[in-house]
Amino acid sequence: MKPYYGGIRHDYKNENNKTPTVSERHSLWFLCGLVIPIFAVTLFLITDSDEPQLLPEADSRALPAQEMAPSFPSINPLAETPSNLQQTNIDSDTMIIIVDRGETLEELFRDNSLSISDLSVMARLPQAEEHLRILLPGDQITVTHNDGQIISLAREIDEVNLLEITKGEKGFTAEILKRKVDTHLEGAHGIIQSSLFEAAQEAGVSDALIMNMAEIFQWDIDFIQDVRIGDAFTIIFEELWRDGVKLGDGNISAAEFVNQGTSFRAARFIDNNGNANYFTPEGRNVRKAFTRAPVDFTRISSNFDPNRRHPVLNTIRAHRGVDYAAPTRTPIRAAGDGKVIFRGVRNGYGNTVILQHGDNITTLYAHMSRFASPKLGSRVVQGQTIGFVGMSGLATGPHLHYEYRINGVHRNPRTVPLPPADPIPSEYREDFQKRTAPLWQQLNAY
Ligand SMILES: [Zn+2]
Repeated sequence: MKPYYGGIRHDYKNENNKTPTVSERHSLWFLCGLVIPIFAVTLFLITDSDEPQLLPEADSRALPAQEMAPSFPSINPLAETPSNLQQTNIDSDTMIIIVDRGETLEELFRDNSLSISDLSVMARLPQAEEHLRILLPGDQITVTHNDGQIISLAREIDEVNLLEITKGEKGFTAEILKRKVDTHLEGAHGIIQSSLFEAAQEAGVSDALIMNMAEIFQWDIDFIQDVRIGDAFTIIFEELWRDGVKLGDGNISAAEFVNQGTSFRAARFIDNNGNANYFTPEGRNVRKAFTRAPVDFTRISSNFDPNRRHPVLNTIRAHRGVDYAAPTRTPIRAAGDGKVIFRGVRNGYGNTVILQHGDNITTLYAHMSRFASPKLGSRVVQGQTIGFVGMSGLATGPHLHYEYRINGVHRNPRTVPLPPADPIPSEYREDFQKRTAPLWQQLNAY
């Protein structure tokens, strides 16, 4: 199974460059957008959005605990969690349920003859609610039961957090257990001989990690168009371990990519509010304040054009934005940090969100099928989902109509110069230099 090849195999081009097709660009955008490295492979194969699947589509697999052969080093919560799970009596059975695409917990319970009424009680526990409602393919749920009556349920939320529900005298209680993870830094270095992807394999770097690196440098390097033979990368990254077992890779702490002789470097810094960003050695943010396109699109169906004939009204009407065609329900993401100043229906625009960014820039997102959770007046961060692609209002097919305005004047979102994101705040500058100095040194060592 080599799901990534489709998107990344064009990462090297000979000197006679061709313009990338929209779908090539789309592929990389999509790949770069994956943020759940462990399940990235599965997600890529089976879904065109990273929204959790809630639709019923039964094809469940439930294995007895001892027959489990996880393909990823995952942890059997039973083996290490001191809890009531181990105090179950001889009449109890334990099963590990692996979630398949689109499955709901209710279906999985039904298929395995587990008590639905127990499930509905558990699903209402405040600690458990969100972790039982949304399941992702590959998730593991460990259930101990007595003839279908639930004794305990455990779900790995991620490498660190485990939801555990146990039945006691007074009914079910839920808690989130923190599991111990050891983090240590690893380094990898590669030189591109044929493709970035092969160089990564050669260096023993996981697909998710190289995608992560491409995401960090996406603002400066087009990994489809710009990569050449002889380019090199160095990554200093976290490895997560528990009890001598590698769980997976954590975050990239620092990275360098040398592209056609130019070096790009970035290190991760977390401020006191827990916000993580990547900065250059000089303290510049590697990001721009805005993404160029706020959706993973399949093609541009209409460009910015002051003299366009409107496809529905058939009159000359300026087209003051860009139309990005994408399947209905594709997430639409805030182009930059900002505040929701409009959220509602706007004539031909249908369901529309307008964001205010700083004093003078606004962005508009139209024709949504539905809104995501951020309400009028709330703050959003770059990349946060604010709605979903649709064709509400006057539209001939599902697409996002996107506008970018500076001081009220419409500008072409595809060509307008984008301001850089905020540099390292002055109060963190000293701390940043102190904490990143050893990382830059490690990069130098390669
Ligand atoms: Zn439009």
